[in-house]
Amino acid sequence: MKDPNAKKLYAAENRLWKGARFTSRAEIQNFADIVTSSAEWVKIKRNHVHVPARVKIFSAGDLEESWISDPDEIWLAERHWHQQAVLHELAHWGFSEMDHDNGFILGYLRLIAGFMGQSVREYYAHAFKQARLQMGTSRR
Ligand SMILES: [Zn+2]
Repeated sequence: MKDPNAKKLYAAENRLWKGARFTSRAEIQNFADIVTSSAEWVKIKRNHVHVPARVKIFSAGDLEESWISDPDEIWLAERHWHQQAVLHELAHWGFSEMDHDNGFILGYLRLIAGFMGQSVREYYAHAFKQARLQMGTSRR
């Protein structure tokens, strides 16, 4: 599968501040509920067929990675119990289920702006630019 941004994105994310950290699955569910009950999520849902109205958070200590699973599940590794990872996984529904293309990055930044703040969005966008992620249209 072609996903040229993935490695660069993960490396950049690892270096960034990850927002609030969660200490229980219930806290993560609470944060996900705040996002999915927002006007922003309703707007995303209107434009993308597969976006669920609410997601269910699952976790287990021995997961190595995090992923989304149809129709409405997010599986989070324990090391991903923070806002950055939850918004990353939610962005997979709204913007690109399979990879980390342009649309994904821009959608992810929209969620960062909405739920971590505009200044955090600037900080992420700057880091992504420095990591040379493909974020423009087909410009080289
Ligand atoms: Zn991803």
